[in-house]
Amino acid sequence: MSLSRLAEKLITKAHDGNDLSRKEIVELLSLPAKYSSDLFAAADKVRKEQVGDEIFLRGIIEFSNYCERNCLYCGLRKSNSKLSRYRMVEDEIIATAQEVKKSRVPTVVLQSGEDSFYDTETVCRLIERICTETDLIITLSLGERSYDDFKAFQQAGANRYLLKHETADKDIYHYLRPGCKWEDRLQCLRWLKELGFETGTGNMVGLPGQTLETLANDLLVMKLLNADMLGIGPFIAHPGTPLAGIDNDDLDQVLRVIAAARLITRNTNIPATTALATLHPQGRLQALQAGANVVMPDFTPDIYKNRYDIYPGRKDVGSAQDIINKLEIDFQSIGRFINYSAGYRQTKYH
Ligand code: SAM
Ligand code: SF4
Repeated sequence: MSLSRLAEKLITKAHDGNDLSRKEIVELLSLPAKYSSDLFAAADKVRKEQVGDEIFLRGIIEFSNYCERNCLYCGLRKSNSKLSRYRMVEDEIIATAQEVKKSRVPTVVLQSGEDSFYDTETVCRLIERICTETDLIITLSLGERSYDDFKAFQQAGANRYLLKHETADKDIYHYLRPGCKWEDRLQCLRWLKELGFETGTGNMVGLPGQTLETLANDLLVMKLLNADMLGIGPFIAHPGTPLAGIDNDDLDQVLRVIAAARLITRNTNIPATTALATLHPQGRLQALQAGANVVMPDFTPDIYKNRYDIYPGRKDVGSAQDIINKLEIDFQSIGRFINYSAGYRQTKYH
């Protein structure tokens, strides 16, 4: 079969909602770059049919950059002694959540390193206060926790949880996350689904040792878990980590994985990540035209923002309201607009 015939066959099959085999996903991801625009257009069409033209916002607060883990890819890793650490106190977090509310963003995402300083009781109290004092929908992204913790967080009022599986390749996972088990991560994700959280998983694209088979498996994990949100972003090397200097500027590859994720999972919420905006000035807008439908403006107070140094060059500095105003103009330029409602995963648009 000619390459153009194969491209047309695969893209049409995925666009029509038929399941792709692992081999077909690999073929889709390995098509030459000249077919990327057809793939993105198909994903954009499915995005419009399934979740509409609206872009949903999630306001993120990165409340602690302490981490007990040592992930080789992340600037927050425990061994990065150059990082100036911070923890936001409860009232500061609540005051920042009020800022999210003031900006009409309906959801707050509380994210941190794995920091047991915020024990079950503290996190639950925080959730309860945010519920009563702001009425925001609460998403947590605190890393791995016990079943009982997840249950307590849910009972306290948290609705969503983000926990990327990072990579479907167990060997790469175990190498990149010393002391962690891939199975434990997956177990956490299954618990979260079971407890009724809107659950987000996802991966990094461009990790060392990753192949197209790995990426195909990542997409199959997202589908099999029936994840509701998918965080797909480029790996960006941090100079203070063992992966310093590994170059990754393959924006097209990240966009293809996002497009494939939209075609395979249909009605999920897919953010155009800050990491994409960091990789390329147009990265976020391109992702929104290749299947993505969510943006997560950063509300972390300026005094802390630069210290949440996962990877270098993070975009979106300045006040959250300024960022949202700028986003609004950017979205208009591609015929899209912000929807200030909760943006739960939809079974069918309209
Ligand atoms: N500690 C929690 C966890 O690991 O799930 C949440 C915070 S962690 C900083 C959030 C996400 O940052 C991770 O899921 C990972 O995908 C991403 N991340 C970390 N280092 C990165 C890097 N160098 N490039 C791109 N993304 C990175
Ligand atoms: Fe900690 Fe999460 Fe960074 Fe790993 S990715 S070092 S768990 S903050």
